[in-house]
Amino acid sequence: MKKALINIDYTNDFVAEEGALTCGEPGQAVHDKVLALTKEFFEAGEFVAFTIDKHTENDPYHPETDLFPPHNIDGTAGRHLYGELEAYYQEIKEAKTVYYTDKTRYSAFHGTDLETKLRERDITEVHLVGVCTDICVLHTAVDAYNKGFSIVVHKDAVASFNQMGHEWALGHFQETLGAKVI
Ligand code: ZN
Repeated sequence: MKKALINIDYTNDFVAEEGALTCGEPGQAVHDKVLALTKEFFEAGEFVAFTIDKHTENDPYHPETDLFPPHNIDGTAGRHLYGELEAYYQEIKEAKTVYYTDKTRYSAFHGTDLETKLRERDITEVHLVGVCTDICVLHTAVDAYNKGFSIVVHKDAVASFNQMGHEWALGHFQETLGAKVI
């Protein structure tokens, strides 16, 4: 079984103390694990995808404009990966096994060519890390399930600002999407 790591929205705006829509401490607490898994997958020659939310400020057509404060605005430092992950991404980004895509909705599959990249490589198992467990990680997992991918969620590498939502989503991955939560 070929596998890939899907690194979801681990950016300054979603994780850093001063981030525009931050998970705060729970998000920062998974930094080392997100970085370690990214290195582990890359060094093993596995496919590593970075799927990163992108917005323009006050976009009247975007549903999130009414739901959340502006975040991950194109061209801002808020969109950079958090902590040491940014430098590591810069180091590996030219590799054929590394893929970065902007996304504009919660799911990493919506409006991106992530699925094509996975299918081209015969990848059948996706490993999910990043934030937020109960929003973008959840919606990505639901799409992965519907598309027939096996799912592994690394519980020490996902986080949310909402602890109850985080716990609920971990249960949902396992009980409803048949994911391995490890
Ligand atoms: Zn967003």
